[in-house]
Amino acid sequence: MSNKYVYLFEEGKTNMVSLLGGKGANLAEMTRIGLPVPPGFTITTEACNKYLELNQEFPTGLMDQALEALKTIETKTGKKFGDRDNPLLVSVRSGAAISMPGMMDTILNLGLNDETVLGLAKLTGDERFAYDCYRRFIQMFSNVVLELDHSMFDDVVERYKRKLSAIFDYEIPANELKQMIQEYNEIVKREKGFDFPQDVNEQLKISIQAVFGSWKNQRAIVYRRINKIPDDLGTAVTVQSMAFGNMGSDSGTGVAFTRNPSTGEKELYGEFLVNAQGEDVVAGIRTPTPISKLQEELPNVYEQFVDTCNKLEIHYRDLQDIEFTVEKGKLYMLQTRNGKRTAKAAVKTAVDMVAEGLITKEEALLRVDPEQINQLLHRQINTEIKIDSIAKGLPASPGAASGKVLFNADLAEKYGEAGEKVILVKAETSPDDIHGIVYAQGILTSRGGMTSHAAVVARGMGKPCVCGCESIKIDYKSKEFFVDDTVVKEGDIISLDGNTGNVMLGEVEMIEPTLSKEFETLLEWSDEVKKLEVRANADTPEDAAKAKEFGAHGIGLCRTEHMFMSPERLPIVQVMILAEDQVAREYALDQLLPFQKEDFYGIIKAMSPHPVTIRLLDPPLHEFLPDHDTLLLEIAEMKHNKVDEKLINEKEELLKKINSLSESNPMLGHRGCRLGLTYPEIYRMQAKAIFEAMTDLTKEGINNITEIEIPLVMDLSEFELLKQEILTVYEELQQKTGIELNFVIGTMIELPRACIVADEIAQEAEFFSFGTNDLTQTTLGFSRDDAEGKFIPTYLEKKIIKENPFAVLDRQGVGSLMKIAVEKAKATRENILIGICGEHGGDPNSIEFCHLLGLDYVSCSPYRIPVARLAAAQANLKNK
Ligand code: PEP
Ligand code: MG
Repeated sequence: MSNKYVYLFEEGKTNMVSLLGGKGANLAEMTRIGLPVPPGFTITTEACNKYLELNQEFPTGLMDQALEALKTIETKTGKKFGDRDNPLLVSVRSGAAISMPGMMDTILNLGLNDETVLGLAKLTGDERFAYDCYRRFIQMFSNVVLELDHSMFDDVVERYKRKLSAIFDYEIPANELKQMIQEYNEIVKREKGFDFPQDVNEQLKISIQAVFGSWKNQRAIVYRRINKIPDDLGTAVTVQSMAFGNMGSDSGTGVAFTRNPSTGEKELYGEFLVNAQGEDVVAGIRTPTPISKLQEELPNVYEQFVDTCNKLEIHYRDLQDIEFTVEKGKLYMLQTRNGKRTAKAAVKTAVDMVAEGLITKEEALLRVDPEQINQLLHRQINTEIKIDSIAKGLPASPGAASGKVLFNADLAEKYGEAGEKVILVKAETSPDDIHGIVYAQGILTSRGGMTSHAAVVARGMGKPCVCGCESIKIDYKSKEFFVDDTVVKEGDIISLDGNTGNVMLGEVEMIEPTLSKEFETLLEWSDEVKKLEVRANADTPEDAAKAKEFGAHGIGLCRTEHMFMSPERLPIVQVMILAEDQVAREYALDQLLPFQKEDFYGIIKAMSPHPVTIRLLDPPLHEFLPDHDTLLLEIAEMKHNKVDEKLINEKEELLKKINSLSESNPMLGHRGCRLGLTYPEIYRMQAKAIFEAMTDLTKEGINNITEIEIPLVMDLSEFELLKQEILTVYEELQQKTGIELNFVIGTMIELPRACIVADEIAQEAEFFSFGTNDLTQTTLGFSRDDAEGKFIPTYLEKKIIKENPFAVLDRQGVGSLMKIAVEKAKATRENILIGICGEHGGDPNSIEFCHLLGLDYVSCSPYRIPVARLAAAQANLKNK
């Protein structure tokens, strides 16, 4: 017996999503709970995978099972597939387990041919309707299945509309449609060399094949790559009897969300097109009317609709994204799925649904993607200043962006990749534009609604998008768009406000976001649940204050070298580096001391009452000196211009020093604690600055703990020597002031050897912080400065690595070393404080690993703090 490849809607349910795809499983579920769904069946993803495996051959039994299921639909509808008097028409749609909007293909009105069209006309008493369906079917089938360019058919439609002075398709009368169909058939014959297929079983068979095949089309592959969807899931195929939205003014089709997917407000939200079929809405060709109009135009249908939406939300306990059709006043559900939503809406719906009793707090926390909430922290246009908008479209995806206008996705990709800010401007986007959207800062379209391709894709990517901005007229040929008298040319800068739909000339002032009350609530719930503490990497009092505002409980890394780079300090730092002997170096360090003291005072105070980790100087000293080649050129020019010898000599001395400091491998060279060991006076000055600042603060009653951190340690003896230096500085000061300070001395763990001898280092070190940037570099032997630009893309492509190891922690390699270090350290010092401060401290996947390792905290940049708080909560919930 052959496998079961076909399931009637009555036979499935939601949890069969991997077999029936999202669409198939949810149609089955809606059928099961008694909602109005036109009868149909689903062919499994397993059948698709077999078909692709068998080199595009149906597995045995598939077509027989499909035809058998079709008989059941015939019985239910009282119609017959291919019957000349009472024809059954079906839609054939794709549906993968993970929704891939606009990526796969759909065929409507299948089952029409030169004979059944007569039956449909007789049956409905509406000849125009029948021929309109037939024309649409030929066009869709030719495009999707026969792979003919749709513009050939669009041209015919446009020509007829011009001839008839018609604005909309539905104004074309039956006799003209008949002629159009003839022209369509001629196109098929001319382009393909055969007649349009009249056998309805053949139509069905090759349509199923086409949907299966579309799993492998370019745009589906690109979408999967961007969204990290596995290639081997396959798509299901849903065959469903047609409900007709194009049967006059009491019919139509629409898409809706049970709550506003942009803001999360509890209100029905969507669009409806009277006298139209499904694809007209999604394609964004005609701009639809808001769903509220349905209440005025078809109150009975609206009531059924509201009732159905309520049932769906209670059943699925989540915001639903719905497709529906109204045929002569009766509502039919064609699809439901958990709706994609902006970060703002995700947070609001999750928190609101807890208040409504629909879901628990834990579920709410798991509903929001930590990466997505990044959007809430994005820039917005400053509404305080007066803004002249040149046009207004639909606010399709929040946030704001400025950039150069480009009208073509390839160019947007090219300029975007080169680091330019671009705004992609198109009449409407299609899946073919996806590469351009990826690289654009924002998207502007002149046509289409909130559910058009541009809107859906931009929301998913968290990019600002304004769509349906009909007042802009795009001229692709002359590469410009017009709004009344204003002309905007390719390359001109515009700004978009995805929250209001405003389009502005030039670059507009933007402000940092403020957080909503629901966002605060969600983060408070995160704090109740998470085990990991969240700290910030911050080098200035301002950053520390911002981090605290975002909920950081401490600083996990303060990189003191960043303080050396500011213009008033760099010359002193350079004098210090160029010093001939220790006395001269100490003289320069004395001048740096007040600056450092001021920095530490500000940071510790800003983070009070939470702990602050201050790392002593880490990078190789040549980073503070001028670039070798630039200096060489400068000297050459000076000589050429016969500048004073003395000045030239000074520069040549500098060049000598740069040469003497230069290393073949600076990242593995004279840096970290090695600097402190060769120039102890540098670390002594830093320790003194820390302790003096702490003394002043203690006098003010501020005594949050300071963790003095020695970088790049690989052996206990390095640590012991430096710890002793620091303690000597402390003792000298303490003898003078009599004030005891609240500090500990610990180390970064960023070398494999340090992990292996962590038990020894922990004898003296009072805390550890994993510097996973360097630990990744030294464990994989990948340069953190070059690898991402050179070979990591190839490694990803060849699947040697799954993720960029500098972004997502390599659990197997680096992670194993961390595990060794944690176990060894705890064997020596049971309660040792251990955290992470490499870039991975802000990455949700890596945060989960840190949770599993039992670390005390993660530390990341201030803007990632909310992401890390939520990710830490999720890590605990997922691994309970
Ligand atoms: C690290 O190496 O992970 C680290 C945090 O230090 P830095 O990036 O400053 O080397
Ligand atoms: Mg480091």
